[in-house]
Amino acid sequence: MLNLGAMERVFDAIIVGLGPAGAAAAVELARSGARVLALDGSRGRGKPCGGCLSARGLDAMTWMEPPAWLSAHPVRRLWIGYPGRPGASYLSQRPGAYLVERARLDRWLARRAEQAGAQVLCARARDIGREQGLWRVEGAGGPWRAKWLLAAGGAGGLTARRLGLDGGRWRFAALVQEMPMPARLRPVLSEAAFLELGGVTGGYGWAFGRGETLNLGIAWLMDRDQGCPGGLRRRFEAFAHRLGLNPSGTPRGAIIPCPHRRRLKVAQGRAAVLGDAAGLADPVLGEGIAQAMVSGRLAAQAVLAGDLSLYQHAVDETLLTDHHHARLLARLIYRMPQVFHGLARHRPGGIELGFNWLRGEIAPGDIWLCLLRGLSGRGPRLDSSRASYYSSPLVHRPNRRV
Ligand SMILES: Cc1cc2nc3c(=O)[nH]c(=O)nc-3n(C[C@H](O)[C@H](O)[C@H](O)COP(=O)(O)OP(=O)(O)OC[C@H]3O[C@@H](n4cnc5c(N)ncnc54)[C@H](O)[C@@H]3O)c2cc1C
Repeated sequence: MLNLGAMERVFDAIIVGLGPAGAAAAVELARSGARVLALDGSRGRGKPCGGCLSARGLDAMTWMEPPAWLSAHPVRRLWIGYPGRPGASYLSQRPGAYLVERARLDRWLARRAEQAGAQVLCARARDIGREQGLWRVEGAGGPWRAKWLLAAGGAGGLTARRLGLDGGRWRFAALVQEMPMPARLRPVLSEAAFLELGGVTGGYGWAFGRGETLNLGIAWLMDRDQGCPGGLRRRFEAFAHRLGLNPSGTPRGAIIPCPHRRRLKVAQGRAAVLGDAAGLADPVLGEGIAQAMVSGRLAAQAVLAGDLSLYQHAVDETLLTDHHHARLLARLIYRMPQVFHGLARHRPGGIELGFNWLRGEIAPGDIWLCLLRGLSGRGPRLDSSRASYYSSPLVHRPNRRV
């Protein structure tokens, strides 16, 4: 914990929010010698999350030396269910994702940021402004000033709005609850994930196993103009009942923002929005941990290069293009879940495409092409020259001009 009295008040960069996006940015900047202040207002309240870290997400973390426990619960098998119909199942040769305890991941990320040399402060940014060419951030113990401001406060974060930058308006409302793993489900969910289509209209349900713990949740794709759905809790309970579960306690919920169009303004001058604050989660499943971490690193590299337009460019050319195709795919899946469940049942080998995607081997555009070719078995046409968001395609190397 920092001694506020002795704390510096002027930094190279201030990062608001220390989830995956903010932590990755803090580590990258601090390791390069920048003076970084990272503010987080969560006070240890864990983020509601399925804790499913895609394999491409884990790969993209290699530079942070991820601990072994992050890969302790691999997903090799995927079950696709539909209410009242037999499920489809597919076992892949290699894991597509890893199931992690989200609170533990966030604690580890925050420690990494501190180890790298960032000053981490448990405080909420209450306001931001400009003062003598610097950003000024207000909060308990503040104000603090910095040349660069990275807004990583998650969905609906204060700074994205104040900066006049975009947040995604294609949104999932999601509810999740963790509970002891029932003995009956343990063998089914060992190294496996279950996704149910068609039960939650316009969304899906999931059951993820982490040894003794079952993570159960639903995600519902909100129409852009709608508010939060009243019946989400009821849908969660109905989903649990379909799995023969009667969870006690209250599920926790939050919004997952994804891009609603092909271009989002994520940077301007010396400020940028990262991760959920920018609305960078994937529009098919609402996966956002990997996307947040990569955006944090990209933005930090752009800061180190002295030019945040590099971050804007990298996000535009890779992630937002992928998400554009993913959005089309999501529309199709959630409007016609029975078709996708039927495809999975009759051609379970096609589920490998989902694994390929989660491993970063193909992009959503490739899946789309393959579906259009009627899952012919010929496989997607891959464009190996495409830059991948997950392998940090920032063109210029950092030159430490913070
Ligand atoms: C129910 C649910 C299930 C999900 N499941 C998955 C999943 O299985 N896999 C996956 O990849 N993604 C999942 N997601 C999405 C994923 O959680 C997010 O995309 C990801 O956490 C985004 O990371 P972030 O760093 O941008 O923001 P966050 O993780 O939201 O972190 C933001 C941080 O900033 C802090 N903060 C906010 N405002 C301020 C402020 N003013 N001052 C200081 N601090 C502030 C917050 O307290 C928080 O600690 C799920 C989301 C939900 C809601």
